[in-house]
Amino acid sequence: MTNKYMYFIANWKMFGNLRTLNSLDSVIKFSNSSKKNKFKIIYCPPNTLIRPLSKRLKKTKLLVGAQNCHHNENYGAFTGSVNAKMLKDVGAKYIILGHSENRQSGETDKLINLKIKSAIKAGLKIILCIGETLNEKRKNKTNQVLAKQIKNCLKSINKKSDIVIAYEPVWSIGTGLIPKLDNLSKSISFIKNKFGKKSPKILYGGSVNGNNIAQLKDINSLDGFLVGGASQNSKKFIDIIKKTFN
Ligand code: PEP
Repeated sequence: MTNKYMYFIANWKMFGNLRTLNSLDSVIKFSNSSKKNKFKIIYCPPNTLIRPLSKRLKKTKLLVGAQNCHHNENYGAFTGSVNAKMLKDVGAKYIILGHSENRQSGETDKLINLKIKSAIKAGLKIILCIGETLNEKRKNKTNQVLAKQIKNCLKSINKKSDIVIAYEPVWSIGTGLIPKLDNLSKSISFIKNKFGKKSPKILYGGSVNGNNIAQLKDINSLDGFLVGGASQNSKKFIDIIKKTFN
């Protein structure tokens, strides 16, 4: 059982439409009725749903975030793209950056660094995803990869108070696999140590569900969870939150 303040980020990826938003009524009801438990729920839907969702969540404790942005902080001729200030304008408060699904399609640490800077300028809080691939894990390169991603993605960013780190081993996303708890604790400590005394909140993401949360919640150094697949089902998402505090 934890007494800590916990974050629960729902990453809807490229799922959801206007009708899907009705399913959030049960999460709103749950969050209103949970007086004892201290948590922050942040929904990160596709861009098309940020405006309607932020309107719907206006008088609730739930917050809205985006899943990515263009690195350019200004308006410009970038067909199909949306920048951080446009996301802020329609109600986003947070933004997921550096997700491995975007890194896999060519996003580099350097580009993520530019995106973080533009998002901070726009007034968004950052959820920075870092994590090793299966190949890197097999080669015992996890710490090396984490250190490099932290260093490069956060280069020249002094104000780290608006940043939350989500440790997401790439091989655990959408696979049903989670790290051995021992290894996960070590990786979280490694990340914390990289920041020294001013460590940001550190979340875990990768196949979190109603079954494995019972083990994951026992890692005291964690400040919450980034949930992909299971967050698209309100019942499953509520179950994860409830079990975190059991
Ligand atoms: C994610 O998309 O960041 C994620 C953690 O997905 P899943 O929970 O489905 O593994």
